[in-house]
Amino acid sequence: MVLTGRIVGKPGMMSYISKYIPLLGAVVLLTGNSISQPVNLIPQPQQIWPKEGSFLLDNNVFVEVVPSTDKALNEIAAQLINQLSDVNGPRLQFSKGKKIKPGMRVIRFTLNKNKAANAESYSLNVTPSRIDIDAPAYNGCFYGLQTLLQLLPDAVFSQIPVNQDTWEVPCLSIIDYPRFIYRGMHLDVGRHFYPLPFIKKFIDLMAIHKLNTFHWHLTEDQGWRIEIKKYPNLTAVGSKRKNTIKEPYQKNSYEPHEGFYTQEEIREVVSYAMKKYITVIPEIEIPSHAMAALAAYPELGCKGKGYEVSTRMGVMFEDDDFCAGKESTFAFLENVLDEVMELFPGEYIHIGGDECPKIMWKTCQYCQARIRNEKLKDENELQSYFMQRIEKYVNNKGRKIIGWDEILEDKKISPDAVIMSWRGNTTAIKAARQGHDVIIAPTTPLYFIVDQGSSNTDSISMSFIKGFNTLDSVYCYEPMPTGLDKVEEQHIIGLQACAWTEFMDNAETVESMVYPRLCALSEVQWLDKSKKNLSDFKSRLQVHLFRLDKLRVNYAKHEF
Ligand SMILES: [Zn+2]
Repeated sequence: MVLTGRIVGKPGMMSYISKYIPLLGAVVLLTGNSISQPVNLIPQPQQIWPKEGSFLLDNNVFVEVVPSTDKALNEIAAQLINQLSDVNGPRLQFSKGKKIKPGMRVIRFTLNKNKAANAESYSLNVTPSRIDIDAPAYNGCFYGLQTLLQLLPDAVFSQIPVNQDTWEVPCLSIIDYPRFIYRGMHLDVGRHFYPLPFIKKFIDLMAIHKLNTFHWHLTEDQGWRIEIKKYPNLTAVGSKRKNTIKEPYQKNSYEPHEGFYTQEEIREVVSYAMKKYITVIPEIEIPSHAMAALAAYPELGCKGKGYEVSTRMGVMFEDDDFCAGKESTFAFLENVLDEVMELFPGEYIHIGGDECPKIMWKTCQYCQARIRNEKLKDENELQSYFMQRIEKYVNNKGRKIIGWDEILEDKKISPDAVIMSWRGNTTAIKAARQGHDVIIAPTTPLYFIVDQGSSNTDSISMSFIKGFNTLDSVYCYEPMPTGLDKVEEQHIIGLQACAWTEFMDNAETVESMVYPRLCALSEVQWLDKSKKNLSDFKSRLQVHLFRLDKLRVNYAKHEF
């Protein structure tokens, strides 16, 4: 039920309204003589009260920031002004100390610093004379702005000028805050590389859906994608593969594939994301998934030679792990991580830890010498040694590690390590009970490499993982494992979906696998369980898709 903004008194208005009329749902509000518009927000706020009337958004509206000198707050408000200006919509201006007199219409962003409050919470009030976004921190102000943008006509998301300078915002009150503090989306750029503009668009779309963490999977057997100054071969050699073999799943590609992000581009992405209140977590995979790195520096592998960037998709190659016996491996990884930590200022560095074959370790003289000298029992303990040593290094630099849930098999892993649980609730529960913070990321239903539905003509129909992760299954997913007590539940800090890209050789395909499922994900991340409603979500999504159209998102259309 709920209402969205519309364009006032412009040609085409009737078609605009008629587009929405079938979706008005149970409640239709009247404002004066005109029919009010449905508010269709994704993710749905925690509490929303529709009210009578509307706010006229035109060239006479002022934007006020309180406190007026706050730089970050001014930047958030400027994002509104700029976005409207980009589409040639209403031209707003900062009040710049001008006294707001009765009758003047104003949009006010107010920062009420309150350390006790949820930093990502906000309130949004729209009356005929003013729009107020209040929040205890910048994050909340930013989310209030995202909600306000969704109250405007979808033209606000247009990629071309729409030349409409009079819009209307429905009056309402919203109180909102996210359910989880970690709301992530992952993108594997190792299997396939995507250009920088797409990465920025990926981040834009996450921000619109109020996600706050981008997990950037930067290294793989099939490609190393981050420039490391000290080791130029990582990109000169490791970012290139001569072809891609996808059989039996999909047609092979005999084209070479290559690409990497320079450090300058990485800094650009991190700072771009920061303006959208998104933290970027880099993932550097150890001790395995390292074939591209070994192709660049063969001496770091047990064999010492004969590696090439993998042309085959899949996992668990028998020789894709770093040699755990050679000291040079650790010197290399520490130097790499130094540069990575310099580029990514966030608290967490993801160090992988999954799917380590350990086969080469069994016959490697260096690995076996390490096992003897460190009095380790076997190759499993050697992996623990490896991970602990890197973890200690990262911790000494003031950062914390995230690892896939295999790292739990190491009994000595520090309780500070965050566990990314991909193999189901058993590992999530075990991790939470051991006091680790846990990010829920199960293959079912949150691996977006899995097909979306049986009639999915948009899909690439190819997953390693059989079955479907439908839009409905994502929406209906309850991430909190059952059986935890209240204290243990606090360790479930949030969830993310993963876009593994073995079969996504272009950006359009990534979008069709991620959208519209990310819309459902955002609501699982944001909204309390009791407030979710699948049919209501789907009717809001129908309207939301017009926004995605304006944003030129290649979402999967088979559901619609
Ligand atoms: Zn070795």
